[in-house]
Amino acid sequence: MNQASGLESLQELLDLVVAGAADVVGFQVAAISLVRSNGDLQIVAVGGHPDATAQLVGRRTPRESLDGEFAVAEHWGSLRFIPAANLPSNARPGWVAPEWDEQVIGDPDAWDPEDTLLAPFYDPTGEMLGMISVDLPLSAKRPTQVQQGVLEVFANQAGIAINSFRQRQTLAEQVRLAATVQSVARISQGILEPSKVVEAIVDPIRTGLDCLGLWVRAFATKDAAKTDSVAAYSAQGTTRTPAKMVEVARTLAERAWAEQVSGVVSNGAVQPAGALSDEDLDELLAYLANTGAGSLLLAPIGAGTECLGHMVLTRSPDAPPWSDAERVAALEIGRDVGRSIVNARLFELERRMIAELRRADRAKTTLFSTVHHELKNPLASIVGHVELLKENPTGDATWSLKVMARNTHRLQGLVDDLLTLSKVSDPDRPLVRNHVDISELVRDAADMFLPRAAQQDVTIKVIAPEHPPTALGSTDELARLVENLVSNAVKYTTDGGEVTVSLRPLGDKVEMVVADEGLGISRTDLQSLFTEFFRSTNPDALEVPGTGLGLSIVQRIVARHNGTISVDSELGKGTRFTVLLPRADSAQDRG
Ligand code: ADP
Repeated sequence: MNQASGLESLQELLDLVVAGAADVVGFQVAAISLVRSNGDLQIVAVGGHPDATAQLVGRRTPRESLDGEFAVAEHWGSLRFIPAANLPSNARPGWVAPEWDEQVIGDPDAWDPEDTLLAPFYDPTGEMLGMISVDLPLSAKRPTQVQQGVLEVFANQAGIAINSFRQRQTLAEQVRLAATVQSVARISQGILEPSKVVEAIVDPIRTGLDCLGLWVRAFATKDAAKTDSVAAYSAQGTTRTPAKMVEVARTLAERAWAEQVSGVVSNGAVQPAGALSDEDLDELLAYLANTGAGSLLLAPIGAGTECLGHMVLTRSPDAPPWSDAERVAALEIGRDVGRSIVNARLFELERRMIAELRRADRAKTTLFSTVHHELKNPLASIVGHVELLKENPTGDATWSLKVMARNTHRLQGLVDDLLTLSKVSDPDRPLVRNHVDISELVRDAADMFLPRAAQQDVTIKVIAPEHPPTALGSTDELARLVENLVSNAVKYTTDGGEVTVSLRPLGDKVEMVVADEGLGISRTDLQSLFTEFFRSTNPDALEVPGTGLGLSIVQRIVARHNGTISVDSELGKGTRFTVLLPRADSAQDRG
């Protein structure tokens, strides 16, 4: 049975009871009033004279006037009789029958049209649910003991009907909420991406906890999610929340999670009490009113001691208040969703770590095989020449020694590059930051590679301002960076041409450009240029000895210094590396 048909059948039952009460007890009019959530009584069913229904149904009596009547009432068993003489001045107006003229003057049992007879009925805990009130006895006299007894029976019947209706409703609500909690848990547990959890639960919550609007938010985290994950539903179609309201909701969510309760804003107040400042509450109330909502239920989403997000549900002002069962269910959903989000985050972390481990494993395998390969050839060459010398100890050793020296030099270079690469790749290695004069490093490098440049008829030109900018970083590492770039520019510029190293301040950066007129780099090679052990596919470049580690080292050093590196190149024309490094003297300069 759904709620609507349950209500109809309750109304039918009350109509029957009240008609019976009027008829059987013998009154012109009988009315059933029910206690509303604010304590007032409201007439819901009227029996007897047909005109009375139109006049009385829906009429409300404030709780205070009823209390006033009860205070002066005579107790007739469970009935309360208020003789006209006792009636408080603020008593509710009764029904005025047009043909009432039967008052028996002088009879002590005569019914005064101002007399009131009430038959209250209660729930099993003794809480008053409502009452039957009767007026204008057909006998024109106060009811007899028998009539009073019969009226009590009718009141009991009304009480039983209301009670069982409420129990059915409570049961139906509990079943509905339990099903919602279960379905949200089932759906959210099956999803392994935190943002998708948020999206997936909107529909089941919205259908399970009847609402005007629903906003689900999972807060951003430092490592997993960079921004909040948000999903929303709104009967009015507008779902964007102003930043201030997002902040207020978070404050309420954190407090609610700490106290393990749902937050509620209704009738101008917030629960848990004091969770929001007066200004924040006022702003929230104004915002709710603006969006056509009358109340709000906020369920914190969390796990352990951490509040991970929240669900905000709104209802229109005339909708029923948030019941205790709904508050408990919403909190339960918040706990389930919190667990699901934590699981999804762990799963995501695990996935990322596995991918990272796989990548590291592949890199390690590549490194081993490349190092093995790079070491094998020069070593084999050295071993070969040692054998040669052993076989012919008196012969001319000049050629063998030359080859051995070259290969030893190559091995030294490789070991040196590997060591440097490992150092600059270690994130735990602290970076000592000095004020480094890059122009000095450039001049040192130019001096270092001058003999080789001269051999190849290459000139090295340094362009630096009179007061060159200083960079912030490790002198050793930056020296290595400059050396590698200048060395490459000279190495890959064969027979004539110019290598230019220019320096200039650029905002809060130092710009260094190393340009050459050498072999250039193809588009395909440019893509892998900074990969460890990458060597060009260009045969001319391959003739030049190298380890393929120089640019990987450069890139790591740039990254450690929060700098950037870019490269422009055209095959056969030349190459231009541009490095930007944080400037040490920028603050003073801009002064
Ligand atoms: P290595 O020079 O030891 O081979 P690098 O990592 O320094 O290793 O450079 C990788 C590759 O990039 C080189 O093999 C070379 O083909 C290419 N390369 C680097 N710098 C230049 C340059 N200035 N001009 C042409 N090619 C270059």
